[in-house]
Amino acid sequence: MTNPGPRIRRVRANGVDHKFTGGPPHQPARSLAVVALTCDVLVIGGGPAGSAAAITLARAGRDVVLADKATFPRDKCCGDGLTTLALRLLEGLGLDPLAVPSWFDVSDVMLRSPTGFEVRLPLPAGSGRYAAVTPRIELDHALVDLARACGVKVYDGHGFAGFAAADSASSVGVELDGIGVVTSRYVVAADGMWSPVRRALGVANPGYLGEWHAFRQYASGVTGAASEQVMVWFDADLLPGYAWSFPLPGGRANVGFGVLRDGTRRVQEMKALWPDLLAREHVRAALGPAAVMEGRHTAWPIPARVDQAVTGLQPGSYVDLFAHFTEEFTRLVDKSPAPVHYRAIFAELADWMGRWSRAFQ
Ligand SMILES: Cc1cc2nc3c(=O)[nH]c(=O)nc-3n(C[C@H](O)[C@H](O)[C@H](O)COP(=O)(O)OP(=O)(O)OC[C@H]3O[C@@H](n4cnc5c(N)ncnc54)[C@H](O)[C@@H]3O)c2cc1C
Repeated sequence: MTNPGPRIRRVRANGVDHKFTGGPPHQPARSLAVVALTCDVLVIGGGPAGSAAAITLARAGRDVVLADKATFPRDKCCGDGLTTLALRLLEGLGLDPLAVPSWFDVSDVMLRSPTGFEVRLPLPAGSGRYAAVTPRIELDHALVDLARACGVKVYDGHGFAGFAAADSASSVGVELDGIGVVTSRYVVAADGMWSPVRRALGVANPGYLGEWHAFRQYASGVTGAASEQVMVWFDADLLPGYAWSFPLPGGRANVGFGVLRDGTRRVQEMKALWPDLLAREHVRAALGPAAVMEGRHTAWPIPARVDQAVTGLQPGSYVDLFAHFTEEFTRLVDKSPAPVHYRAIFAELADWMGRWSRAFQ
């Protein structure tokens, strides 16, 4: 029987057409299910976790393939807020804020207590970035581009379809939609909390829907304080959850709320809560009279655990942390013009943290 020669397919990586064959030239063709593409590390999922892993590994000299079922730029239901630590990590990866067109540096945070106390907490000025808001559609795209620039072969639009036989005991075979089998020494599963890789390995937690449920929608025409400040509203009926508005350039904001999925609230009730929340006086005042909500809201469950381990929510830990913070901060604000006001809000927030922590006992 004559050798039919390698079968050739074209896929796009890094925006360029590539040919992939069933085997190296001049060798008997192997089935496509054997080797279509090889690498040191296959990263599945191009969100921040996957991109960060791919960038770090490529910089360490590894041959890395990054595959995502979505085509970038792709949106992700998120508050878009970057904490101080997240900013340091992004700096470490070498992400240039200019690569994210709607990057918004935050200088002020406004907290509203369950009984309506409001406190404005300015972030340290003039000594770097402490908080920022970046739409995930842009941030994740910029990170994937950075991965490409570091030499990672990016295959977006190609989802994980399952595991396949590998040609050696020291490699893993992974079937990618539209590509075939990728053979890799290591696989990083960064395909989100509802990871298909985890499911394929049989280590997913059946029926697990996350501890929290959150809604998010963008607003435009924002002219109130929410056009510049991060707003966190601890409305009494949301506790131990909260609502937020995170500012973006051009009078836009990411607005949302998260509540505990404790069995007392049905999803329909959460849906009804959303317009009710947007109509509340303090929310309307913060967004301003001209604000309009863009498109539709998106809703998403939020996990607070990995397998059986609840991440950092051991009873007491948050209260201790918050009590410490409150104590330290209160001493500082004692010198401010409104110490009583600050103490009242922190007392309430400590109470809220206590309730939050107890919800996980
Ligand atoms: C409403 C809401 C608000 C939030 N607000 C904030 C916030 O303000 N700040 C913050 O830091 N975090 C926030 N989070 C959490 C944050 O969104 C997540 O922690 C973060 O997205 C996790 O990143 P990741 O890279 O692990 O996963 P993801 O960002 O979920 O990325 C997973 C990737 O895997 C891909 N994928 C899925 N299936 C496959 C498959 N079969 N094959 C290949 N690829 C696949 C997806 O397309 C996706 O690109 C919020 C979450 C929600 C739901």
